[in-house]
Amino acid sequence: MTKSSGHIIINIQKCKGCELCIIECPQNGMALSSNINQNGYHYAYLAEDICTGCTNCALICPEAIIKVYRKKKSKILKQPVSTL
Ligand code: SF4
Ligand code: SF4
Repeated sequence: MTKSSGHIIINIQKCKGCELCIIECPQNGMALSSNINQNGYHYAYLAEDICTGCTNCALICPEAIIKVYRKKKSKILKQPVSTL
């Protein structure tokens, strides 16, 4: 059984802080930074490492500044525990 995991890279200097990506993330993994970028906007970032790579944030972003990376991760099979 495999499960997807993902990661995003945001060009924070071009973010307008509209929060659409934050609203659209089904994992609730994104947030708005308390810091501001060079244009004076609070920018979005991945606050928790729970991204599945669904691409919702990248598709909704009106600035098209989010890149999504996705990889399959295999389920780790547990070794049987030997009993004496
Ligand atoms: S790719 Fe999906 S899960 Fe990952 S941060 Fe964007 S909306 Fe959230
Ligand atoms: S949707 Fe785009 S512009 Fe809006 S907060 Fe997210 S990254 Fe920034």
